[in-house]
Amino acid sequence: DHEPEYALQLAGVTKTFSGFFALKDVSLTVRPGEIQAIIGPNGAGKSTLFASVAAEIAVDGGSVAILGHATSKKDPSSLVQLGLSRAFQVARIYPSMTVFENIMIAVLGIERLRPTSLGRRVGTFFAPRRLLSARVVQAATETGLEDVLSYRAGAISHGDKKRLELAMALCMEPKVLLLDEPTAGMSPEETESTVALLKKLHNDRRLTMLITEHDLSVVYALSDRIAVLNRGAIIANGLPDEIRRNSEVARVYMGG
Ligand code: ADP
Ligand code: MG
Repeated sequence: DHEPEYALQLAGVTKTFSGFFALKDVSLTVRPGEIQAIIGPNGAGKSTLFASVAAEIAVDGGSVAILGHATSKKDPSSLVQLGLSRAFQVARIYPSMTVFENIMIAVLGIERLRPTSLGRRVGTFFAPRRLLSARVVQAATETGLEDVLSYRAGAISHGDKKRLELAMALCMEPKVLLLDEPTAGMSPEETESTVALLKKLHNDRRLTMLITEHDLSVVYALSDRIAVLNRGAIIANGLPDEIRRNSEVARVYMGG
């Protein structure tokens, strides 16, 4: 059981919306364990790229592979089984349920998706409650939510809501994690602790991460490689230092 060369591979991906090219011939490879950032001005196509990778939208041309498996005809839940999990710019949580219950939903969700041998299925429904609870508590502890487990998810801070979504994504036991603006709307302190948390999760779990982020200091602090999207096309992709020195990137960011 050897590791595929690429955790993520996009080849010539094109996506149009009524004739408008949101993605134009986008090719990108991410190696296992790498943190790849996608940056670019508003409307560049970052969210469309994420939605294409997560098979939430069908692309018009090109192909996407996750850990060596083509995803074009897969539905999002089978991508979870492949090891893909994502968190959204605006956290998708259940505000009237507790933090514990939210994470439990994710734990039960992945149990339901496990291979369908009878034993596993039966195991899902009769799995001792305390084993499932232990996994909830572990995910909460890993993301710093252990003190707010009994709070309603709608009542916790913005930073904790983003951490909750991360905890829910981690329960899916991902190998590849898509993070859309993980520090959006956070205070400087929350941003700093989120960067530290993402670094720790990356080290502990050797996760491959695809990240979009407006805050370039976060991008430079986290990324192994940075790709720059502009008008649906990748105009640069390289090491953080190369991107920092790239004059075309600077021009795009100045709106020139
Ligand atoms: P970003 O995330 O980089 O801000 P998006 O991927 O959201 O950019 O959008 C890229 C372009 O595609 C924008 O011009 C946007 O208006 C357009 N677009 C995105 N989604 C849709 C859609 N569902 N229908 C029509 N146009 C869309
Ligand atoms: Mg976006």
